Amino acid sequence: MSNKVHLGHTARKRFGQNFLTDQGVISSIVGAIAPDNNHVMVEIGPGLGALTEPVADMIDNLTVVELDRDLVKRLQYHPILKDKLTIHQGDALQFDFGQLQQPGKKMKVFGNLPYNISTPLMFHLFEFAEQIETMHFMLQKEVVLRLSASPGTKAYGRLTVMAQYYCQVVPVLEVPPTSFTPAPKVDSAVIRLLPYEVKPWPCKNVDVLRHLVTTAFNMRRKTLRNNLKTLLSDDDFTTLEIDSSLRPEQISVPQYVAMANMLCDKKD
Ligand code: SAM
Repeated sequence: MSNKVHLGHTARKRFGQNFLTDQGVISSIVGAIAPDNNHVMVEIGPGLGALTEPVADMIDNLTVVELDRDLVKRLQYHPILKDKLTIHQGDALQFDFGQLQQPGKKMKVFGNLPYNISTPLMFHLFEFAEQIETMHFMLQKEVVLRLSASPGTKAYGRLTVMAQYYCQVVPVLEVPPTSFTPAPKVDSAVIRLLPYEVKPWPCKNVDVLRHLVTTAFNMRRKTLRNNLKTLLSDDDFTTLEIDSSLRPEQISVPQYVAMANMLCDKKD
């Protein structure tokens, strides 16, 4: 299964290569992305071009970031794509997406992501949220559930809080394993992330928020008071009107931002 050949390419498991082959799913994703020339269009992991070809067909230029050198070579010599693509060979986790921004143009970023790096990749992309208009990603369904979770649910965690701090999160489509070659072992889903132009809950220092949220979710079964005892006092929780006997997954995004802002004030 892991080394199944598709279009003459042997799929590499270590690069999370599950190629989309379902034309109905491909059309739905391209429709959701709504490619246009008013944005810098960016694809992560173009692979054999399942999304790349229909998207490039609709626009003048598409920037792609692909780790697999063999796939990059195929794209470089692709009869139709080669003139439309700006290809960056490398690791999307290390890639400076900020360098792609053009005056007056935000980015639309999309991809059927390698599932083995999807969570760190989300955190990396949040750093560029202000320069991005929309993101559409195929992910493991479990990650989509985490991104869109509500407080008080099992899926609600560090990824949820940070995603919903930066973006409006909209699940788009569920996709079965049979839509890929080779078929992944898990269900998949497409998510739309819309970074806020004006954040509903502005945070004074996002590094402080990130640290606080990581610390709060260190031990999910412990109370907020216990997990955050080195950062916030009982008096702080009283001032914020937050019940510190709750567990981290019961605390809303605006409550996390309020705690981070209080920490910033204490440091000043
Ligand atoms: N877009 C294609 C499709 O839908 O059929 C391929 C999707 S496949 C799930 C993931 C793609 O991401 C592969 O082309 C793989 O080589 C590439 N990839 C894996 N790790 C990567 C990384 N760290 N940075 C950039 N691309 C990566």
